[in-house]
Amino acid sequence: MGQTLADLPLRDDLREEEPYGAPQLDVPVILNVNENPYPPDEDVVADIASSVAAAARTLNRYPDREALGLRTDLAAYLGHDLTPAQVWAANGSNEVMLQILQAFGGPGRTALSFAPTYSMYPEYARDACTTWVTGRRAEDFTVDPEHALAQIEQHRPAVILLASPNNPTGTALPLEVVERICAAAPGMVVVDEAYGEFRRDGTPSALSLLPAHPRLIVTRTMSKAFAFAGGRLGYLAADPAVVDALRIVRLPYHLSAVTQAVARAALRNAGSLLARVQELRARRDETVGWLRGQGYRVADSDANFVLFGTFADRHAVWQGLLDRGVLIRETGPDGWLRVSIGTEQEMAAFRAALQEVTA
Ligand SMILES: *Cc1c(COP(=O)(O)O)cnc(C)c1O
Repeated sequence: MGQTLADLPLRDDLREEEPYGAPQLDVPVILNVNENPYPPDEDVVADIASSVAAAARTLNRYPDREALGLRTDLAAYLGHDLTPAQVWAANGSNEVMLQILQAFGGPGRTALSFAPTYSMYPEYARDACTTWVTGRRAEDFTVDPEHALAQIEQHRPAVILLASPNNPTGTALPLEVVERICAAAPGMVVVDEAYGEFRRDGTPSALSLLPAHPRLIVTRTMSKAFAFAGGRLGYLAADPAVVDALRIVRLPYHLSAVTQAVARAALRNAGSLLARVQELRARRDETVGWLRGQGYRVADSDANFVLFGTFADRHAVWQGLLDRGVLIRETGPDGWLRVSIGTEQEMAAFRAALQEVTA
């Protein structure tokens, strides 16, 4: 008789847990995980391929544990006078986030965020044996600073996670709110800017706050705007001492030579890979306008997705879209759905399918 999960001496706090999983379905229009819909151009593919070939010649050796070349390139990409010592990279920003909680969270410590927010945060906290608490976002999904300060006072969190722009709502935080939270926080403050490149004009990045706030961490990823979700490369900017803390908990050689080479090739081709960001931002604004014109409630978005609703039976709408070959995401507060911004044709298919399903 084969054993099941229930027969194993699994950690008590992992019993009944399910693996993370946005459905990976093979349908014509995939608008559910906020990817950039445009694959790399052939010349970028060729540059990546020759970088992999060069890395392949060294695969008998362990990779550079400190990934210094890559961190140098990332610092240059971020600007803000950042140095490689202020930048850290890992396999996706989800590994960066787990390392942050391993270093600064842990048993007896608490991580705080404001819901609705990224569904992975509680999983990172759980995996790092960190107590997870959430305050709430306002009706328009912004974070009220008075509420945030009260939550900080009550929970004394070791780590505060602020997604800006937030997933799944698309909401960016004003820097004044981040500054007030930094001033009140007893521990580390993480601003997750996974969608930073999609911000609307006039929405600033928290990178500019780093010099004044030594316990602030700004995380980024190459998975979204950079069209590099398959490459698995996330990174952060913070004080060099923060990077030293993460170097304690990272697995030795956590970034393979191939990952480092491919990410550096992608950064060399940033112009080409980011070329469609303006177009995606414009299409995001059009999608917001169109959905509002259809009478939906739509959250303001600084990201490459839009949260809209509300539906008495959102699952039925999600399923109806899927039946028409359009996969979006059933996430966020009850009654809302989230659609990623795809190509012109993909958004046309989404609009047509939604009109049919709700007719
Ligand atoms: C997509 C996303 C990430 C990026 O995750 P990767 O591991 O870098 O692919 C991080 N934070 C938020 C809020 C996201 O939505």
